[in-house]
Amino acid sequence: MTGASPIAPGEVWLVGAGPGDPDLLTRKAEKLIRAADIVFYDALVGPGILDLIPHGTEQVSVGKRAGRHSKDQDTINDLIVRAALAGRRVVRLKGGDPSIFGRSMEEMAALARHGVAARICPGITAASAAAASASISLTLRGLARKLLFVTAHVREGEILDLDWDALADPGATLAVYMGKSSAGMIARRLMASGLAAATPVLAIENASLPDERIVRTRLDLLEIAARALGSGPALLLIGDAVGAASPISGASAAVRAPARSGGR
Ligand code: SAH
Repeated sequence: MTGASPIAPGEVWLVGAGPGDPDLLTRKAEKLIRAADIVFYDALVGPGILDLIPHGTEQVSVGKRAGRHSKDQDTINDLIVRAALAGRRVVRLKGGDPSIFGRSMEEMAALARHGVAARICPGITAASAAAASASISLTLRGLARKLLFVTAHVREGEILDLDWDALADPGATLAVYMGKSSAGMIARRLMASGLAAATPVLAIENASLPDERIVRTRLDLLEIAARALGSGPALLLIGDAVGAASPISGASAAVRAPARSGGR
C-alpha cells in the first residue's frame, strides 16, 4: 500500500471488529489494524482477527468477560491515553460495533480530556450476525416494525432495571445482549408484562464463528434452553419475526402481500 498511513501519530481509532469471523471485518478496519503501532483488544476479539495484526505490532489484551475483569475501564482509558500521548498510532479493537454496549464514549471522553484525537470505525454488531446465521430478519413487515437493543448486564449487587412493559411489545424484535445468565428472569418479566409464552426466541452463541450454536425455543422454555449454551458470548433474539420461516417455498411466498412493481 502506498500513500500516507490512515492513522496519524498520536491518533486513536476505536475499531469495530465485528462478531468474530474475520471475513466480517470491514476493509477499513483491516487497513487500520495494519497501520497501527499498537492494538488494544477486548476478550471478544477472536484469534482469526488478531492474526491480521502484523508481526511487530504491539498487542495488548484489555479483555473483559462477565465476572472476570482483567483490567478496569479507568486502567484501559489510561493505557490508551498514554500510548497516544507517546505519539503512537493506536487502534482500540472492540467486539461488534463500538457504539453498541461498547463503552466507547468513556474512552472517547478520556481521550478528549487529554487532547487526543480519536475516531470510530463501525463494525457488524452481534444482532446482525446472529440474524444472518439464523436466516431471519430482525424487522419484518407486519410482524416487527421496531427493533430494540437492550443489555441485561448489571453491575454486581444491582438489579436489572428495565422498562419491561415497553420491552414486552409484540410488534418488536428484542435483541438482548449479555442476557444468557439472566435468560430465565428476562422471560418471566416479559411474560408478566404480557408477552405471549409462545413468543419465538433464538439464542445464538458465538455467532459467525465455527463453533456457533443456535437454539430455537419459545419464551416460556427459554430458561431451560439457555442452559444448553456454553461459555461463549450469546445473544437472545425475541419476537414473532424471529420465528418466521424464510420465504423460500412457494407456499410461504403466497401468503405475503403482493409486491408492488419496483417496490419491496
Ligand atoms: N459491541 C458488541 C457488543 C458488546 S457486549 C456488538 O456490537 O456486538 C458483549 C455481548 O455481545 C455478549 O455478551 C453477547 O451478548 C454479544 N455478542 C458479541 N459477540 C457475539 C457473538 N459472536 N455471538 C453472539 N453474541 C455475541
